[in-house]
Amino acid sequence: MSTSTHVEHLIIGAGFAGLCAAIKLQEDGETDFLVVEKASDVGGTWRDNTYPGAACDVPSQLYSYSFATNPDWSSSYSPQPEIQAYIQRVAERSGTLDRFVFDTRFEHGAWDDAAQQWRTRLVGPEGERTVTSTTLVVGAGALSEPKLPAIDGIETFQGQLFHSADWDHGVDLSGKRVAVIGTGASAIQIVPELQQALESTGGHLDVYQRTAPWVIPRNDRTYGALERRVLRRVPALRKLYRTGIYWAHEGYVPAFTIEPRIAAPAKKAAAANIAKGIKDPELRAKVTPHFEFGCKRVLRSNTYYPALAADNTELVTDPIAKVTGDAIVTADGVERRIDVLVVATGFYTTELPIAEQITGLGGHTLADTWRDSGMAAYKGTTVPGFPNLFFIVGPNTGQGHTSMVFIIESQVAYLRDAIRTMRSRGYAAVEPRRDATRTWNDDLQRRMKRTVWTTGGCQSWYLDEHGRNTTLWPKSTITFRRQLAAFDPDAYETTPSNRKAVSA
Ligand code: NAP
Repeated sequence: MSTSTHVEHLIIGAGFAGLCAAIKLQEDGETDFLVVEKASDVGGTWRDNTYPGAACDVPSQLYSYSFATNPDWSSSYSPQPEIQAYIQRVAERSGTLDRFVFDTRFEHGAWDDAAQQWRTRLVGPEGERTVTSTTLVVGAGALSEPKLPAIDGIETFQGQLFHSADWDHGVDLSGKRVAVIGTGASAIQIVPELQQALESTGGHLDVYQRTAPWVIPRNDRTYGALERRVLRRVPALRKLYRTGIYWAHEGYVPAFTIEPRIAAPAKKAAAANIAKGIKDPELRAKVTPHFEFGCKRVLRSNTYYPALAADNTELVTDPIAKVTGDAIVTADGVERRIDVLVVATGFYTTELPIAEQITGLGGHTLADTWRDSGMAAYKGTTVPGFPNLFFIVGPNTGQGHTSMVFIIESQVAYLRDAIRTMRSRGYAAVEPRRDATRTWNDDLQRRMKRTVWTTGGCQSWYLDEHGRNTTLWPKSTITFRRQLAAFDPDAYETTPSNRKAVSA
């Protein structure tokens, strides 16, 4: 069955980004919107990543909305269930959930230039439906499409295999031989939990490391009842605490973007973390990174190194040659038998699958537009050739050191001001000018050249196939916020409402 609806704003994704857009549009009286979500709940990455040990490595006081601070976090780095419950609570209290459409996939969105609107195909439990909208807001997330490793023979594995972002809680790991491929932010949270669970049941863990990451201690702290009570009663203190955490994290920006030597104390802390967690010099050498601090995401854990040093864990650094029906074989010919294979191998980040599903002016998809040049947008939010399309968490908005929620709120502020401007000036459509977009991105890429992400001697998910960093923001987040504080119509081609034709 195919039905058709019109809304002013169609928002894709019900994670931190989509929910923030919905709440803030509602505050502006822009109540005519739909949020389309492929899963059956809000939460995005915090709904999906339920692996053992999942927690945020940015303190919760900061990794939460500024307009919905939470005095009840249990600890500085709250676990995934608490973050998910927080998002659910904010969504329920916001009074916007009646406009969320769950279990519904965004199939395709195309700009209809004659009607000056987006025409979107959604597929849900009741079949296909078309929604037209003035704006299309993409809050689908940058880390939402799990990437499976291209390893010879992996499809022939007969045991249980799953991605870290799609944990199979039905698998009983007791006494099993488990392998984890990857040593990124997800893996270092999973490994200590698995090691302990397997140790108590006579199981074994192999960790396959391709590149040793930098891991600094995680200064986790459980909040006491008194502390929580004070934070609940004194919102000003909550705000002050949050601000303190924000500035402490912002201190990493110069080390990443200007001079890596500033990070010397953090490097020392990482070296001490290895020394504390591992006694064996050979294992210490294996986990010592060979690239500059910050080139890949800096990880935080107190328990990762001790887990690698445990008797029931083997850290394998020989490259994987193939996977067989019941084993992983490394290039040195050693075969290690396994029952369960966990791939913690990251996400599609520089080639967003959603780019294939969005068609702009002239019938070009976003993927066509970005094919040769790589992902690029104006202010990380809008793209030439795609009128009234707004990304929340778009190209070059990512952070390696602080809360993405800060970036999300900055982009939503820009979206709100764009909509206000369209209303007040009578624009049917706004599209960033190509010269403004080029200037914006040339500046970013010029700055990118001297960042540790480019010069630090590593390969990371920050870089695309041409070696361009199209994911991270190379300045302070306060600069990002300032630059997106107000919509700037001078940087846009605008179409007056009276030129809007009726769709055929
Ligand atoms: P990731 O950082 O991309 O790490 C993937 C790991 O898999 C890397 O160690 C990589 O090795 C390895 N790998 C990939 N393909 C492989 C192959 N074919 N053979 C062997 N090894 C392979 O992914 P992630 O750990 O899921 O983290 C992604 C991002 O999610 C993080 O950077 C972070 O932004 C976010 N995250 C955040 C938190 C948090 O606490 N806030 C927690 C988890 C994730 P190489 O290093 O050699 O490429």
